[in-house]
This record gives sequence, structure tokens and C-alpha cells, in this order.
Amino acid sequence: MSTQSKIPVDCCASPGLLSVEQAIEKILSQAVAVEQTESVDILNALHRVLAEDLYSTIDVPGYDNSAMDGYAVRSENCTSSGAALTVTQRIPAGQVGSQVDPGCAARIFTGAPVPEGADAVVMQEKCDADENTVTINTVVTAGANVRRAGEDIKKDGTVLTAGKRLRAQELGLLASVGLAELKVKRRLKVATFFTGDEIIAPGKPLAPGQIYNSNRYTLRGLLQAMDCEIIDLGIVPDTLEATVDVLKQAAVGADLVITSGGVSVGEEDYVRIALEKLGELSMWRIAMKPGKPVAFGKVDNALFMGLPGNPVSVFVTYLLFARPLILKLQGAVDCMPKRVHVRADFEWKKVQRQEYLRVRLSQKDNQTVAQLYPHQGSGVLSSASWADGLVEVMIGEEIKQGDMVSYLAFEGLN
Ligand code: AMP
Ligand code: MG
Repeated sequence: MSTQSKIPVDCCASPGLLSVEQAIEKILSQAVAVEQTESVDILNALHRVLAEDLYSTIDVPGYDNSAMDGYAVRSENCTSSGAALTVTQRIPAGQVGSQVDPGCAARIFTGAPVPEGADAVVMQEKCDADENTVTINTVVTAGANVRRAGEDIKKDGTVLTAGKRLRAQELGLLASVGLAELKVKRRLKVATFFTGDEIIAPGKPLAPGQIYNSNRYTLRGLLQAMDCEIIDLGIVPDTLEATVDVLKQAAVGADLVITSGGVSVGEEDYVRIALEKLGELSMWRIAMKPGKPVAFGKVDNALFMGLPGNPVSVFVTYLLFARPLILKLQGAVDCMPKRVHVRADFEWKKVQRQEYLRVRLSQKDNQTVAQLYPHQGSGVLSSASWADGLVEVMIGEEIKQGDMVSYLAFEGLN
């Protein structure tokens, strides 16, 4: 068994290559969050990043209220089971009752304010009621089934702080304190293009030697999930001239340019060369598999990330490098994917580069285990579709059946 903390960060096994951790550090060190903000209706704020701290002007809940359908009582009247109380009022949600006197109870429904005098609610299943009386078949303690005013959020308390990326539950939370408009960071503009003489758009028949541009759809989907404004410059042929032209165009007005293919050392790989010509390249080789070549740099005011061409490499390197970068540029505070430890239901031989295996969690002998997709090729996109996450294998690590391994879930990342 081995864990991440035992593995040195320095990439001694692959001289000249950066480790994944060094690459992330380098990338994030060059990312500065966009400054501009805008006001959006909370209805349209999903996945936006908050630009200011938000406080509540109210208590939530605003008043002590019933957590049950039942009877509001004075607990002092119900110190033993079988107390018979007179039912003097009925309080549905949305209405306010009146004082509950000693020996009395109020019929009450979930969410209705607990009336003066009452200090507990008894669920109706523990009561026998007839016309005007109710028998409480339990002992009642003060505070039972009462949701206290302010127990969720206190008046003047902080609800969320700047830099929070808004998920559905944050939108609900902000609505619960009555906010209708939010100040958020502006959307990130991301330009993309896809290199390769062999790639064509789906919808047309393939000529010999051609393949469909699957990377476009993977990357667009990932960027859409991050609420980026996408500038899609399409397919670019494998020539230096065409690559330089499109890169110039991509950098205009974009915060970030993300491409696929053409970043290796082949004679038909022009992206890195074009980047060096127009801007600066700050790194391009990482000791990882899949996805060894990932170019990172700058063109004009845009950051540049050249992802590899292989479809699985695109997906993996996006999740590891592009997504944290996008989050940081968007102003989010929490940028890094989380790892959890699960048991491996497979074996994997010692690795020379940090590997990212496509796995799926399942239950075996009352334990959560990671199962391996049988074909881990960097072109086998079925592996990413079948899987629900990645197992991270560090350099020098070997996985034996039943070892604890580091797992990154796709859920929430795309
Ligand atoms: P490259 O890095 O350009 O040498 O591409 C590596 C591999 O990924 C090659 O097999 C390409 O055909 C393939 N590839 C490149 N771009 C795409 C794309 N947009 N969609 C699907 N496969 C691609
Ligand atoms: Mg290519």
C-alpha cells in the first residue's frame, strides 16, 4: 500500500519533465482572477462566482416553527404519558396562532409558528384526538420538534463569502435570506480550436484516414459546465501558418485559449511552435500518463493551454490543469479537485509517470472498491464514459489488489 504523501514531488524518474504538482503550481501562479463584476438575477447565477461577502438581514427560520404535523403543547403539562388537553385552535403554515394556556393544545402543521405559551410539538402519530381534546401518548420534553428562529442563519450573520462558486444549494440558501440579485464575477471568455488534418465535424461521412472531432464536444461540454463564454474557432489544419493565424485570432478578447492536438514533438505539431512565435511558452512536458504534452503559456493578454490530441488525455488534463486554472481565473477560492481513498479491486504495475486510471466505484464485501476499465488507452474514450473517476498512481507506486488508492471523482467536476 502506498499513499500520495510518501511519494516525492520532485520528478526524478523523468528528468526534464515537470511533476503534475509542479505543473499545477506553475499554472496557478500565473492565473489572476478577472476583476470585472456584474449583477445577475439569482435565477441565472448557477456556477457563477460570488464577488462579495453576503450577510443576512433576517433570521432563518424567522420564527420558532413546527417540524411536524401534530399538536403544540406546554411540556410541563405532559410530564407523563396520557395527558388529556383541550384543543383550542388550529394553526396551518402561513397563519399565526394565539396563546396556548395551561391544559390546552393547538393543532399545528409543519412550518407554522409555534404559538405563545407552547414550547414543544408532539407528532400526530403519538396523539389520539377527538372533537375538542387530544390525548398525548408520550412524555414531552421542552423544544421537541420545534425549529428555532435563526438556527440555520442568524440575522447579520455571513451567509457566503466572496469567491464561492454557486451550486444549486447556494442559490437556495441565498434565496432563503431573500436575495434576488447577486454581484458575481464576469464570465470567462475561453477561445478554443482543434488541430489536425485528419479531423472533421460529425454529421458528414468519413473519408479514408479521417476521424471525427470528438475533442470539440468533450471540451465544449466541460467549458459549458463551468459557465464559460466559448469562442469556438473550429478545426485548424496542420500548418504553421494556419496555426499562427488562428492563435492570433484566438488571443483577441479571450481570457484563456484552450486547444487540442499538435503539442507534441512530431513534424506535424505546430501549436507549441506557434505559441513560441507569438507569445511565451512556460512549460509543455509533464511526467504523467495519459497526457504527457500539455503546453502552457501566454499570448497577448490571454493565457494559453494546449491540451494533447488523444481524447482521454484531453479529458484528464482538462480536469487536472484546465479546470483549476479556469476556477482561479473566475475568482473561485476553492480550485483543486479533491481526492478520497478507496480500495483497489485491481492490480497495476509500478509506474514511471504519474498515471490516471479510469475506474468506477462499486460495492464489494461491504466495502467501496474501485474497478478498472479494462482498456486504458489514451484514445479509448469509452473508458472515460464508463468510469466515474480516476485513480491517481504516483511515480514508483505499484497497486496490489485491496490497496488503498487515491480517487478523484468526476462528479461535480464536469
Ligand atoms: P496529436 O497530438 O495532434 O498528435 O494527436 C494525437 C492523437 O489524437 C491522434 O491520434 C489524433 O488523430 C487524435 N486527435 C487529435 N485531435 C483530435 C480531435 N479533435 N478529436 C479526436 N481525436 C483527435
Ligand atoms: Mg495532430
